[in-house]
Amino acid sequence: MTELSGGPALPQERRLVTPIPGPKSQELLARKAATVANGVGTTLPVFVTRAGGGVLEDVDGNSLIDFGSGIAVTSVGNSAEAVVRRATEQLAAFTHTCFMVTPYEGYVEVCEQLAELTPGDHAKKSALFNSGAEAVENAVKIARAYTGRQAVVVFDHGYHGRTNLTMALTAKNMPYKHGFGPFAPEVYRVPLAYPFRWLTGADNCAEQAAAQAIDQITKQVGAENVAAIVIEPIAGEGGFIEPAKGFLPRIAQFARDNGIVFVADEIQTGFCRTGQWFACEDEGVVPDLITTAKGIAGGLPLAAVTGRAEIMDAAHAGGLGGTYGGNPVACAAALGSIETMRELDLNAKAKRIEEVMKGRLAALAEKFDIIGDVRGRGAMIAIELVKSGTREGAKTPNPEATAAVAKACHAEGLVVLTCGTYGNVLRFLPPLVIGEDLLTEGLDIIERAFGTL
Ligand SMILES: *Cc1c(COP(=O)(O)O)cnc(C)c1O
Repeated sequence: MTELSGGPALPQERRLVTPIPGPKSQELLARKAATVANGVGTTLPVFVTRAGGGVLEDVDGNSLIDFGSGIAVTSVGNSAEAVVRRATEQLAAFTHTCFMVTPYEGYVEVCEQLAELTPGDHAKKSALFNSGAEAVENAVKIARAYTGRQAVVVFDHGYHGRTNLTMALTAKNMPYKHGFGPFAPEVYRVPLAYPFRWLTGADNCAEQAAAQAIDQITKQVGAENVAAIVIEPIAGEGGFIEPAKGFLPRIAQFARDNGIVFVADEIQTGFCRTGQWFACEDEGVVPDLITTAKGIAGGLPLAAVTGRAEIMDAAHAGGLGGTYGGNPVACAAALGSIETMRELDLNAKAKRIEEVMKGRLAALAEKFDIIGDVRGRGAMIAIELVKSGTREGAKTPNPEATAAVAKACHAEGLVVLTCGTYGNVLRFLPPLVIGEDLLTEGLDIIERAFGTL
């Protein structure tokens, strides 16, 4: 696997030589506890020294299978060859000028790529930032400047970041918002079409949820006051919830009919993660603005707002930007990352990962009745856990079993993450370049973990 990197010849294998975490990681963990703020948590405290392809290597010499990609970031694999090559060249040439002071080509090239890759063939422009939250904040700024309106509509189970405005846009209190208010005003939350938990059944979900959302917007906010509707095409932190088919197009149409800017937050779903360049393509939805980050630059911090030129141009000169936004090294990494996605056809790889994972997980759901739902697209797959005997009825969330399975996987050297409003979702986000043998081995570990409950 020469196209994978992480340093020379990083073996693509799981290898456990100590308990997880090992003694050196434990030592570092003590140093972390002494000096890093408690608020900065850690899912799996092994300290990493090298990573690439589908594995992470730690300070104790263990090699773990990666089903997390640093939260959907290293889709092209860690230290992917083209990312390292381009970022290294850029590092040697210059590290920073500030694009707002003296510009450089890489920034423009990234915006050209974004215009080409995002849905729709209208004229598009972009602005680059450092983090997903910053991109979402700027999408709201741009929508307000364009519409002259203030209100922002978001959805149940939504996650949009940790800054003040994006905390307000985020649904879940703990851990994202608790004690951190007051939050930004003029944010309104409406129902999301969550098929597994829709009280009158999945078949009614899209239509009823859309009707409720639209009713709340028109009656409680007033469509003419709404600047933007911001939605994740698949809710990420909220539990990998795929809105019932038909919901997204209906909401996008409502936005269009009412002069509201429709913003797709594709920070987690974008850049081949779901088997398409962007998840909203699945239902042919063309957003007015799209926010991207995570997978865009192979691990370097970069984010973007891309959208209709006339909307993007509504903010006055000097109104958008930031010292580091579109840093030249991050832009070079993004170009390397996009090159890798094209060359290795990572959309096809994501679809293959879905096929392998869903096949295995569906069989697992037959065996274990605490698996309430298997869902997701591409290499963004999740299982939602419920209490035994409630799958066909109350669907009582089972965060305890979710934590126990995750813990058992970690102990066996498999990095998995949890999510969900009820903390009862195991989510799998392998790098798209992971080998099929590692993918299968990871699934074996998950199966064994359920067996230990
Ligand atoms: C991660 C995420 C964000 C926030 O991105 P940061 O880079 O962590 O600020 C926003 N929206 C979605 C959908 C995300 O998954």
